[in-house]
Amino acid sequence: MMLKKFIVGLTGGIASGKTTVANLFAQYGIDLVDADVIAREVVSTNSDGLKAITEHFGQAILLTDGSLDRAALRTQVFDNPEQRLWLNTLLHPMIRQKMLDQVQTSTSAYVIMIVPLLFENHLDSLVDTTLVVDIAPELQISRTIQRDGVSKQQVEHILASQMTREQRLAQADNIIDNQGDHEVLRSQVFGLHQQYLQQAADLETNVHD
Ligand code: ATP
Repeated sequence: MMLKKFIVGLTGGIASGKTTVANLFAQYGIDLVDADVIAREVVSTNSDGLKAITEHFGQAILLTDGSLDRAALRTQVFDNPEQRLWLNTLLHPMIRQKMLDQVQTSTSAYVIMIVPLLFENHLDSLVDTTLVVDIAPELQISRTIQRDGVSKQQVEHILASQMTREQRLAQADNIIDNQGDHEVLRSQVFGLHQQYLQQAADLETNVHD
C-alpha cells in the first residue's frame, strides 16, 4: 500500500535562509528532499539525463573527465528559448520523479521539500502546504555579499530574475520571518513543526477513513 506522505514545500528568495531553516527541521528528525541536489544528480556522470544531453548538444558539452560542462550548457541555452525549453522538458520530469521517490522512501512524520523556484516552476502542485522564508531585499543583498563575496550588482541581477517578495508571500500558506536572530528563528520552526505533525496526523486519519 502506498502511504500518502505530508509534504511541506519550503521556498524563499536567494539567501533568505532556506538551508538554515531546513536544517532546524532536520534537528527534529524530519527528512529533507533538496531540489538543487537532485537537479545535479539527474545530470551526473553516466546518468540517463547526461546521455540525452550529449546526444542532443554533442560531445562538446562534456568536460574531459566525462562530466557535464555546466558553463557550456549555460551558453547553449542562454538567450535560446527553444533549447531551454528542450532542456527543461527533459529534466523537469526526471527531477520531479526523483523528488517523489525520495518522499516515498522517507520514514519521518512528514517531509520538507526544499525548492528555490517552487512557484516559478509550478512544483507547488506536488506539495500539501507551502512555507516561505522571508527577508527584505536589502537583507538578501547584504547576506549574499557576506556569504558568497559577490558584488551588489550581481545579487541585484539574481534578485531581478526571481519572483518578487510580494508575489511569493501572496502564495504562501505559512511564512517564516528570518530577519531576527537565530533564537527567534528556532522558535518559529518549533511552532511550525508542531503544526505540521498535526496536519500529517490528520492526513493519515483521513486516508484510513
Ligand atoms: P540560497 O538561496 O542562496 O541557496 P538559502 O535561502 O538557503 O540561500 P541560507 O544559506 O540558509 O539561505 O542563508 C543565507 C546566509 O544568511 C547564510 O550565510 C546564513 O548563515 C545567513 N543567515 C541565515 N539566517 C540568518 C539569520 N537569522 N541571521 C543572520 N544570518 C543568517
